[in-house]
Amino acid sequence: MITRPATFRLRFLKVWRQKTPPRTYATLTGEPSTQTWPHQSQFGNIHDDQVARLAAKPLHPLALADLIRHGRPPLSTEALFSSANFTLSLLPIRLAHRIQALRNLPFIVVSNPHIAQIYSNYVHSLSTLLPYQERRISNLEDEIQFTEVMADLVQTHSNTIPTLARGFLECRRYISPGDVTRFLDEHLRARIGTRLIAEQHIALHLSSKPHNGGVSTPQDHDQSSYTGVIDTALRPAEIIRHCEAFVGEICELKYGVRPTLVINGQSDARMTHVPTHLEYIITELLKNAFRATVESGKEREPIEVTIAAPPEVPEAASRATDSTHLPSIPGVTIRIRDRGGGISPEVLPHIWAYSFTTFADEDVTATGNNGGGGGGGNGNVDALNAISGAGGDSSSLAGLGYGLPLGRAYAEHFGGGVQVQSLWGWGTDVYLKLRGLGKSG
Ligand code: ADP
Ligand code: MG
Repeated sequence: MITRPATFRLRFLKVWRQKTPPRTYATLTGEPSTQTWPHQSQFGNIHDDQVARLAAKPLHPLALADLIRHGRPPLSTEALFSSANFTLSLLPIRLAHRIQALRNLPFIVVSNPHIAQIYSNYVHSLSTLLPYQERRISNLEDEIQFTEVMADLVQTHSNTIPTLARGFLECRRYISPGDVTRFLDEHLRARIGTRLIAEQHIALHLSSKPHNGGVSTPQDHDQSSYTGVIDTALRPAEIIRHCEAFVGEICELKYGVRPTLVINGQSDARMTHVPTHLEYIITELLKNAFRATVESGKEREPIEVTIAAPPEVPEAASRATDSTHLPSIPGVTIRIRDRGGGISPEVLPHIWAYSFTTFADEDVTATGNNGGGGGGGNGNVDALNAISGAGGDSSSLAGLGYGLPLGRAYAEHFGGGVQVQSLWGWGTDVYLKLRGLGKSG
């Protein structure tokens, strides 16, 4: 069982939601829009110059160390205010950059109702933060209200991925695949950080003494290795087992069988990372490995997951890197090896493109073409069908075509990476490199 960080208690927070007025964009399939750009001089209730001013400020690169610095337990009220003000120093700039990037898309693309929804979500979220621009958070009342704003932000943007996926698929005649990939890559990478910053403050708020009455609960003990949403003693093997159970379940539902999985190497390795990020990446990589294994009829061949942690360098381990006082370690590499037949040379160049998939769910498309790693698949159409059929959520085994590119974006967010090595006709090795900040004693 994985210890859930405090974010999972988010649903207990009263979500303060301020609805944006409905928009009437013409769809691309309907009559051409006669509307002019709706926010030529004003973004909803935000003025252009406010957005321009914020978007002109540089983005602050985010390190795990920055997020940990504000939340070492026990968390004092002062530390909580400092976390809130740190969050406030980052988020409006990040949201304004996204608004500008959306506005720089061709008008016909932003007019698509799904892309317009995303744009509207960003305008809404920035408008909820602007009242805090002029003042620092220095009392509990403001801090509680600010945390509610953070909860609203997380919730407002929770459905972004299937919405954007659908929007860009509907617009694919009007924008080049290269431009879509560039936009999505930048947008989804920025979203990872923005969401993390908001979730970190919510988690710190929930774990802070003023809010739990200073009473120590059994959960506090379980979560002692957490600083907000970051686990300083994360065991990759535990996450792998947890994801295996989930992916095995959906694999069995789809195909009636599930492959086995063995973990070898340093299965007791620990590191500092964000468990929800690792869960996302491993789930997507296991889905691909499970699907390839079953579709090539090799479910008797176990998927082999090897965890490798480099030997500790004594000088590096003893040298505290920063105010987090965690020694720097190079991190952990995880290899996921399947015997699912590998990836064909025709498919291989496309695997990192958003929306590319060789998966076609016959329940939805009635084509029965699964690609099987060899066919090349009609990526875009299949991805659109997958969004319609499975709701584009994480409970389908494949089909959105976001698993590899988004998994790599998560890994690279804190300096790691994903590499795919296909042995066509045999199987696939995927190397997931994670850079750790340090490890707890
Ligand atoms: P999706 O799984 O939704 O199709 P991904 O981005 O996860 O999207 O993968 C893109 C494509 O890469 C898959 O459709 C599949 O053709 C190929 N692929 C990825 N991993 C593997 C693997 N382990 N074995 C064979 N093919 C793979
Ligand atoms: Mg996948």
